[in-house]
Amino acid sequence: MTNLGSDVHEIDTLMSGHTGITAGYAILGEHPALIETGTAKSAPVVRDALAALGVGPEDLRTIVVTHIHLDHAGGVGDLAAMFPNAEIVVHASGARHLVDPTRLMSSARRVFGSLMDDVFGPLLPTEARRVRAVEDVGSIDLGGGRRLETHHTPGHARHHVGLIDNVTGDLYVGDAAGLYIPSDDPDQPGDVRPGTPPPDFDLPLALNSLEKFRTLRPTRLLFSHYGPVRDVTDTLARAEEEVRLWVELVRDARTSRLDLDHAIEMVREKTAARYPVETANEETQTKFEELSSFASNIVGINMYLNKADGWEHPMADAASAG
Ligand SMILES: [Zn+2]
Repeated sequence: MTNLGSDVHEIDTLMSGHTGITAGYAILGEHPALIETGTAKSAPVVRDALAALGVGPEDLRTIVVTHIHLDHAGGVGDLAAMFPNAEIVVHASGARHLVDPTRLMSSARRVFGSLMDDVFGPLLPTEARRVRAVEDVGSIDLGGGRRLETHHTPGHARHHVGLIDNVTGDLYVGDAAGLYIPSDDPDQPGDVRPGTPPPDFDLPLALNSLEKFRTLRPTRLLFSHYGPVRDVTDTLARAEEEVRLWVELVRDARTSRLDLDHAIEMVREKTAARYPVETANEETQTKFEELSSFASNIVGINMYLNKADGWEHPMADAASAG
């Protein structure tokens, strides 16, 4: 756990046993809230972290997830049971999947295969009465005049929301600004990489969501992968540059009729200098590739371009976790 100030604590969910890839955030105070649960397998880690912060089973008021991908919301059912007074807040188009995860789980199993059990574990159902669906905007009361405002920010996923703290200006970006890979050296900025998995990725929606983030004038970005970033303007600009570049590269790959393996090779080569933090350390590279692979991001963009450009280019399926 890391104290980020203003009663905000970062919880490392230790996804797949890795440190520093998937975060949850606790906001303490009058009505304690948890943002992101991590996977179902991470639920005991998150529960213990909350306990260490003084948040007992009866105390947690809200569990909110930025979207229902299993690295963010897989633990909702477990944590709802562990914290019986918590209301679960989620975007309207994700709500029914938390109440009845059957379809979500069977499609995840189809995509992830054996990773399902090793990395995620089962998303357990949550009673409908405990789930509150938010639409375009919503509000979560943290007590004492402090609240989290939810903003629908599709593009990475159709059921994605960003959350801004009205007191601190902290913006919880989920995966809508991609991934941030922090550097150990405080003077070196982290890498920003796009997160464009199938089946929802949509460039105009993703760019609109980044624009919405700018208009909220946040003071700090809190990435689910991974951690807080103070340099808001440059980081959001970089997120936009990255996603535009990747879409252009995949468009080139389609024009050249590259198959997935050759597309990966091409995108890797053309972006080689862009992720110095990630590529400097083999372990960092491996764990982030496992979370959000080149293959999965390319397949997601290709699927979007099949619709946007009006012609189908076949590329094999590929999955990664985040
Ligand atoms: Zn994710």
